[in-house]
Amino acid sequence: MIERINFLKDEINKANYLYYVEDNPSISDFEYDKMFAELKELEAQNPLLITPDSPTQRVGSVSEKFQPYKHKYRLYSLDNTYEYDELEDWYKKIVKEYGEQELVCELKIDGLAIALTYEKGVFVRGVTRGDGITGEDITNNLKTVKAIPLKLFEPVDVEVRGEIYMPKSSFEKLNEENLKNGEKLFANPRNAAAGSIRQLDSKITAKRDLSMFCYTAIFTGEIEAKTHYDSIMYLKKLGFKTNPNIKLCKDAEEAVKYCQEWDEKRFGLDYATDGVVIKVNSILVQEEMGFTSRAPKWATAFKFPPEEVMTTLLDIEESVGKTGAITPVAILKPVQLGGSTVARASLHNFDEVGRLDVRIGDKVYIKKAAEIIPKVVKVIDDEEHFNRPQYNPPEFCPSCHAKLNTHDDEVNLYCDNPLCPEKVCAGIEYWVSKDAMDIDKVGPSIIAQLYNKGFIKSAVDLYKLSMQDFMQLDLVKEKSAFNMFTAIQNSKHRPLAKLLTAFTIRNVGKETANVLACEFGTLEKLMAASVEELACVEGVGEIIAKDIYEFFRNPQNLNMIKELKELGVEPEPPVQNISDELKGKTFVLTGTLQNMTRDEASEKIKQMGGKTSSSVSKNTSFVIAGENAGSKLDKAQKLGVIILSEDDFLNMIR
Ligand code: NAD
Repeated sequence: MIERINFLKDEINKANYLYYVEDNPSISDFEYDKMFAELKELEAQNPLLITPDSPTQRVGSVSEKFQPYKHKYRLYSLDNTYEYDELEDWYKKIVKEYGEQELVCELKIDGLAIALTYEKGVFVRGVTRGDGITGEDITNNLKTVKAIPLKLFEPVDVEVRGEIYMPKSSFEKLNEENLKNGEKLFANPRNAAAGSIRQLDSKITAKRDLSMFCYTAIFTGEIEAKTHYDSIMYLKKLGFKTNPNIKLCKDAEEAVKYCQEWDEKRFGLDYATDGVVIKVNSILVQEEMGFTSRAPKWATAFKFPPEEVMTTLLDIEESVGKTGAITPVAILKPVQLGGSTVARASLHNFDEVGRLDVRIGDKVYIKKAAEIIPKVVKVIDDEEHFNRPQYNPPEFCPSCHAKLNTHDDEVNLYCDNPLCPEKVCAGIEYWVSKDAMDIDKVGPSIIAQLYNKGFIKSAVDLYKLSMQDFMQLDLVKEKSAFNMFTAIQNSKHRPLAKLLTAFTIRNVGKETANVLACEFGTLEKLMAASVEELACVEGVGEIIAKDIYEFFRNPQNLNMIKELKELGVEPEPPVQNISDELKGKTFVLTGTLQNMTRDEASEKIKQMGGKTSSSVSKNTSFVIAGENAGSKLDKAQKLGVIILSEDDFLNMIR
C-alpha cells in the first residue's frame, strides 16, 4: 500500500512538473486524473499516510522564470469527477446541510488560471496561479492580451480570476508555423497558451493570439455581490470578457443536462473546454461551506470524457487516394474516444510519420477534436520504441506495385498509373460522394464489387449499368438493385458545381467549383475559357487557371465528358438569386450560428451575389457575428464595420 502511494506521488509530481513548469505533458489528463483519484482514495483509507507534500494537498507548481508574487487571496484548484452520479451525490450533500441551492454552470476553459488586480478601475497586476499561494508576476505580458481591460468602466477595486486561453484555430496556425521553422510543437492549446503567456520577452507574447474569460470576482471595495451569477454579470458590465454560455440551474438535474449538452457541442467551439464547473450560486452559502486544502467545497468540475487517449499502433496501412496520393493510415488497437470506438487514425503524410518517428508496436496518443477523423498526435518514445525498427515509406504502390513518384515540391508520394485499381475505386467513391454527384446508395463495398467483377472501370461506367448488373453482386436483392440504379439515374442532372467537383480537377474543390459554375453558367463556356479569363475569377489565380485549362485540353478528359453527355449526364446551370443588398459586398463570418453552419451561410451569400472573406479589413462590408464571436468581432468594432447578428442576416437573405 505505502509503495503504491509513493509510486503515485512520484508519478503525479513528475507529471506536475512537466505540465506546469515545462508546459510539455507526458501523459494525458485522463490518466493523470485516474492516478490522482486513486491516490486520494488510498489516502482517505489511510489518513496517517497523508504528508503535507502529497500532491493531493497542493495545487499546481511555481517555476522560477518570473518574479514570484504572493497572492493576497489564495487560488484553489477544483475537485473533479467524470461521473454524473458523483455530481448528483455532491449536490445531495449540499441540500442536506444548506437546503435546495441554485447552481451556476460554466464551461471549464482549458487554459491557465490568472489573478488580475484592479485598483480604482485600473489594471495594476496580473499573476499566475502557481501553487495557489505564490504565483509569477506576468503583468507586462498580460498587458498585451487585448481581452484584458487596462481600465474598467467603473473605478472599482477588484481581484478577478479567469483563464487565459489560445483559440484552437490560432493554436493550429502556431503549430503549423513552428513545424515550418523546425521549432517545438505544442501538445494542445492549453500548453500553447501557457508557453506563450510565460515568455520572458513580452514582444513574443504580443504576437500570440491569446484571450481570457473571467469567472470569479473578489470585490475588495464597497461593491458586494449576493450571488455568483450577479458578480459575473457585473464583471461583464465592467468591461471583462466572460463566457456567454454561463447558465443558472435550479438543481443538479439541470446541471447534468447542461453537461450532457456541452459534451456534444464542445467540438464546435474555437476554444478548448475540458468540462463544466458547477458552483453554488449563493455567496453566503459559499462562505459557509469554505475550502479543503486544495479546492472549494462549493464548486466541482465535471470533466468531459477524454478527447485524447493512448493506444497501440498495430500497423501502418498505405492507402491510395483518388489522385494517386499515398496516405499512411494508423491501424490501432481499438480504443474508446469521444463516444466511439476508434481503430484507425490519420497520419497525414510520410513527412509526418518521419517527424513523429512512429514505429509499429509503439504506444501512441490519438486525438479527436473538431475534425471527424482522429489523428495520431504523439508517440511515447520509451526504451522499447528505440528497439523497434524505424518505419520506411513505401517505394511501390501497395495496389498496383508501380514505382511511386513525388510531384514538384509536394511532400506526398504518388502512384501515377491511371489503371491502378485502388486509385480508380477511390476516384469513383469520390464521384458518388455528397460533395460531388451525391449518389448515396452506392457505397465503397458496392464500388469494389462492381470493379472486381469487371462491370466498371471508371465513374462514367456507372451510367452504363443496368439493374441486372447490380443483381449479380453479392447480397444485392431486387429492391436495393433498383434503388442503386435509380440513384445513379437521378444524379444525371445535378448542379454544374457538383459535376465540376466530381471531375477532381487539380486544386479545384467544391468552393472553387461553385465559383466557376456561377461565373461561367455552363460547362461549354467554362471549357472554352482562356487561362486569362479563368485567372480573373475570384479565388482562382494563374496556377489554378492553368490546371483548369489543361484539364479541359486533355484528350482523356474530353472523351469522358463526351461519353457522359451521350449517356445523358446534363448538369443544371446554377440558380442565381442575386440580391441588391448582397451584390458585390464582402462578408466575414465569425462565431457559431444557430440556424445554419458557416459553410451554408457563405454558400447562400455567394448565391446571392456576395463574397466571403476569412479576415476583417476596412474593405469588409459586413461581419456576421454568431455566438462566441472572437477577435474578428473586436476588429470589426475597431474599424467601424457593420456588425450583423444572425437574425439580421436571416432578414437580409429572406
Ligand atoms: P483543474 O484544471 O482540473 O481545475 C481548476 C482550474 O480550472 C482552475 O484553476 C481554473 O484555472 C480552471 N477553470 C477553467 N474554467 C473555470 C471556471 N469557469 N471556473 C473556475 N475555474 C475554472 O485543476 P488544476 O489544479 O489546474 O489542474 C489539475 C488538472 O490539470 C488535472 O485534473 C489534469 O487534468 C491536469 N493536469 C494534467 C497533467 C498531465 O500531465 N497531463 C499534469 C498536471 C495536471
